[in-house]
Amino acid sequence: MSVIVCSYGEIHLKGANRGFFLRALMKNIRQVLPKEVKAEVTDTRVVVTEYTDSKPIVAQLKKVFGLTGIRVCEAVNFQSPEDILNYLKTIKINGTFKVVINRADKNFPLKSPVFAPQCGDVILKQNPQAKVDVQTPDTVVQIEIRHNGVAYVSTGIERGLGGLPVGVSGRAVCLISGGIDSPVAAFLAMKRGLAVDFVHFTTPPYTSELALQKVVSLCRQVNFFGNSGKLYVVPFTEIGSQIQKKCHDEYTITLMRRFMVALAEKIGIEHEANCIITGENLAQVASQTIQGITSNNFVVKQLPILRPLICFDKDEIIHIAKQIGTYQISILPYEDCCTVFVPSHPTIKPNLATVKAEEQKLNFDELVENCYQKIECKDCQSNHE
Ligand code: ATP
Ligand code: MG
Repeated sequence: MSVIVCSYGEIHLKGANRGFFLRALMKNIRQVLPKEVKAEVTDTRVVVTEYTDSKPIVAQLKKVFGLTGIRVCEAVNFQSPEDILNYLKTIKINGTFKVVINRADKNFPLKSPVFAPQCGDVILKQNPQAKVDVQTPDTVVQIEIRHNGVAYVSTGIERGLGGLPVGVSGRAVCLISGGIDSPVAAFLAMKRGLAVDFVHFTTPPYTSELALQKVVSLCRQVNFFGNSGKLYVVPFTEIGSQIQKKCHDEYTITLMRRFMVALAEKIGIEHEANCIITGENLAQVASQTIQGITSNNFVVKQLPILRPLICFDKDEIIHIAKQIGTYQISILPYEDCCTVFVPSHPTIKPNLATVKAEEQKLNFDELVENCYQKIECKDCQSNHE
């Protein structure tokens, strides 16, 4: 019988809390699988059965955080090692191979260094053109001998996403622009178990419906990885205009970011988030000096700001963006919310006292409150296909 056997890496290390992590993992797995497909935890593996075609099922499992390896296996019921050797006679191997035995059942009569060469011999007999190469084999024949008299035999492995199941670390609101960085930041936050909602600031009529659609597409693409975050769209034109009109233009970006973070915190608190995520990255642009970035920290009252990309290089961020399918969307050339208000020379090292003095020229709380009333929530579910 064909089964898909998944390993779940880091969750193994969770002592008394393992059950909590596994329940979350299984809930997330079942969400992406068709109803008729069965998935259960058996003997430290997630075993998926009752499918007709393994390919689409493996593709779904590859987007579940928490899984590290996914193998399509033959489940061989055995009473003695001969039963496994008999099955190996049916395996076709081209090129080089090695046999790896994982002997979870310590009562299995043969130890791995004894059983592996026996398996290799059977395979070589059936495939005279094949060769053993233990260093860099083309194919790894993996034989997992489990406790319940079943051996899982596979000839290939797909890497899972790793990380932890979405939701186990709590909730976050992620400030998402149309750029490359913030969708990657959301993805990495999800990787460590945060369920992420999105907050996007628009400045109509300077930003278009198409620019917003691009952000919806980005959220859908991030949601593809087992997240069901909502997108909160915040009309920011009034705040941006007030800052531009009343404050020193060197401080426009700093002040805008502070308003953004304050609004994100308000949204987060209402929706029971535990933290705020941004795509900020140290020294990437003039506004992201350590002083520029941290001036936001003094606005939030309850929720910490996490910045998953803080120490990444841009090419590392782009690499992930390409892998997760957001890059091609991010580079579509639509206007950004801030561009219209951005001065030619933003301050590189905003001084907190000056920031606060500039902010005093505005009615911060009232602007936030008025803006908050106009927030719209958009659906951006991935259809998990
Ligand atoms: P990104 O590529 O994500 O746009 P960036 O390098 O262009 O990032 P900035 O434009 O300076 O950087 O923005 C820094 C961070 O501020 C973004 O990563 C995002 O978290 C947040 N941000 C910027 N603009 C917006 C916006 N219009 N709506 C929501 N968040 C925003
Ligand atoms: Mg940007």
